[in-house]
Amino acid sequence: MTRPRSTPAKGKGKAGARRPAAPAPAAPRRGPSSSDLIGVVVLLLTASLAACAGGGWGGRRPAPTGTEAPKGELTLRFLDVGQGDAVLVRSPEGKTLLVDGGRSGERMRTLMDQYAVTKVDLMVASHADADHIAGLVPAAQAKPTVFVNNGLAGTTQTWDRLVTALEKAGTTFQKANAQVFTLGSMKVRIFGPPRGMNDDQNNNSVGVRVEFGKFTALLTGDSEREETTAWLAQGRPEARGPVQIYKSIHHGARNGDHAAWLAAVRPENVVISVGENSYGHPTPEVLDLYRQNGIRVYRTDEQGTVTVTAQGDGTYHVTTDH
Ligand SMILES: [Zn+2]
Repeated sequence: MTRPRSTPAKGKGKAGARRPAAPAPAAPRRGPSSSDLIGVVVLLLTASLAACAGGGWGGRRPAPTGTEAPKGELTLRFLDVGQGDAVLVRSPEGKTLLVDGGRSGERMRTLMDQYAVTKVDLMVASHADADHIAGLVPAAQAKPTVFVNNGLAGTTQTWDRLVTALEKAGTTFQKANAQVFTLGSMKVRIFGPPRGMNDDQNNNSVGVRVEFGKFTALLTGDSEREETTAWLAQGRPEARGPVQIYKSIHHGARNGDHAAWLAAVRPENVVISVGENSYGHPTPEVLDLYRQNGIRVYRTDEQGTVTVTAQGDGTYHVTTDH
């Protein structure tokens, strides 16, 4: 599914649903809320990962890269989860970021075993569609310290299962809002959906910018033109290129990547996370767009898991399963 099955029942002025401290049997929707944020700030001070809440929607630029490149190697894997997204990132210190989990819990469990993921420091759900969150349910066993989402509660049983699993894991919930997480020598910059995106899950995708020294990767879920155009209008520094590795928006759908957005992001490589599907993903138009912009294309449906190993000086190497 690329769209929510139904319109979320969302109260005005309350972007996220509640996350009850104790299980509340009558709660129809559960999830993080802004009221959790106060607790989050306190918790983060004691958490093993150092995080700081960023400013508002303004033009805060990424901090300039220090002159000394971090040592070791960052590993970024676009996991082969079929039609869906799941991106696993590890810092040289072994800190782990998981962005989305694909549509199959079983598949994700296998991949977690394969890559020996026993702890997730930061879990991000770009949005609540099943092809992004179903695999996060078993991944919650790796006890994510923090879970970030778009603040729009999902309307599905899968979403409810995810929230339950995260509550059981003792995870702290946060709504995406320009946070910066320092995971070892990797920086993860979160940028939330712009205002005015209504309840559409795709257009409320969370943006994730991963920085490791001079190396940068950018992931923006299934954002459609409305969202990326609004980010461009805001001049969001997180979306400013060049970036070495970029995830194709919305599995290469026609309503995802477009020329103006790519002109800002300036990706060197794009990874299309896609499997067998009836939507026509990736579309010839989008593939042409990448070609015209001289962007190297990798696809998980043809090449399996795409693994990027990066050094702090900005050099990197891409390998694929096949
Ligand atoms: Zn999707």
